[in-house]
Amino acid sequence: MNSATEGIELVLDDPGLQALREAARLSPDNLPLRRHLAEQLLTRGYLADAEAEFRAALVLAPQDADVTAGLAEAFVRQSAYGAALSALEPFLAAPGYPPRLGIVAARALLGEGETSKAAYRYHEAVSRDPSVADSELESRMTIPAVAPSGPPAPVHAPLEEKPGEVERSKLTFADVAGMDAVKESLRIKLLLPIQQPELFAAYGKRAGGGVLLYGPPGAGKTHLARAAAGELGASFVDVGLADILDMYVGSSERNLRATFDLARRNRPCVLFFDEVDALAARRSDMRQAHTRQLVNQFLAELDGVDQNANEGVLVLAATNAPWYIDGAFRRPGRFDQMVFVPPPDAAARAAILRILCRDKPLAEMDFDAVARATEQMVGADLKGVVDRAVEVKLQQSISAGRPIPMSTADLLAAAKGTRPTAVREWLATARNYVLHANESGAWDELMPWIKAK
Ligand code: ADP
Repeated sequence: MNSATEGIELVLDDPGLQALREAARLSPDNLPLRRHLAEQLLTRGYLADAEAEFRAALVLAPQDADVTAGLAEAFVRQSAYGAALSALEPFLAAPGYPPRLGIVAARALLGEGETSKAAYRYHEAVSRDPSVADSELESRMTIPAVAPSGPPAPVHAPLEEKPGEVERSKLTFADVAGMDAVKESLRIKLLLPIQQPELFAAYGKRAGGGVLLYGPPGAGKTHLARAAAGELGASFVDVGLADILDMYVGSSERNLRATFDLARRNRPCVLFFDEVDALAARRSDMRQAHTRQLVNQFLAELDGVDQNANEGVLVLAATNAPWYIDGAFRRPGRFDQMVFVPPPDAAARAAILRILCRDKPLAEMDFDAVARATEQMVGADLKGVVDRAVEVKLQQSISAGRPIPMSTADLLAAAKGTRPTAVREWLATARNYVLHANESGAWDELMPWIKAK
């Protein structure tokens, strides 16, 4: 039995489930029983427990597609999208995989904001098995078509983005609304050592070490990392860890090394790893040997072969599920600082909207009113609202033959039709994980949010 299963302490208030669990405890090798228990836990929303049971079942049947789908679903519902994708990846890489897995993958991709990849997986799965269709999921992948003419463009997802394109970011911290505390801590951690090396040297501090950004999906972690690069005048390398893991066995290490080398050749550089939970989750379950190698490689690259290897390379990583990150990543010199990127409050939402509408033709705007009407929304949702309003306006302007400025009412109407990302669910998950696990103070920044719930 793996350690995750032994750690279950939650008392279930459901006698039926309790009995099932007791039965599973008595015959731990009974796969159908374990699977049934796991599925029941998942259905009733005991997500961490379901995850542990699916993991235990996977030990019994490593190739079982249904168990993998269940595990991935448990990950998705805990916002661990990277972990879900890496659990699914061995299956998705083979043609003709069970369509149900494609649906879970679509959910995970959607959680990561990869709408077109999600749509690709979804449609591919449904084309092979119409019974897996899910209209609710489908509605989240399509922006209502208000395009001026013709059907919406077909979705062709580039499934293999090559890791390691060097970007020049035009964004700076001025393009990131709110988050003053977050910007300040990044400034001290990342920017000052580079901008004022003498000052840091005088105090015997070495630049280096990474920062782990965590928070609900869509709250602006990627945006912030890109802005940090621009603020610093550094180049920017954006790496989706799931992309690195997508490569066939054995070449992941090479990809990782190549990515670090690319950053080193382009210093000063911000090297950004999205979905780091993908790596940490791998370490704790499947394909141990190969995984451990990759994690070790990652840690070795972070540590740098010699003292100066990573000078001028600032490593940022982001995750929606920081509780999955292995302790080894958080040691000094690695991701020794964790920064919470919170969901925006009303003032921050107004500021984000102002930034998003900056270059648009506008009537007089009451951004505060829109902020009040978008209570559960994060930056990514607000971007959706503005994009939608702009499309409507564009269409009206085309019919009218002149530009019609966008108004408060347009944004309010678009907000009505936008479903917010699940911030509340994210906070509930976070609460489960961290409320009783803050001895080291790692979650201090998150605590007020969780307690305010
Ligand atoms: P995450 O990486 O946390 O999932 P993103 O950085 O991808 O979120 O955010 C999605 C989009 O939302 C960004 O591209 C940006 O346009 C917008 N956005 C999010 N937060 C902010 C912010 N604080 N200020 C301005 N725009 C923001």
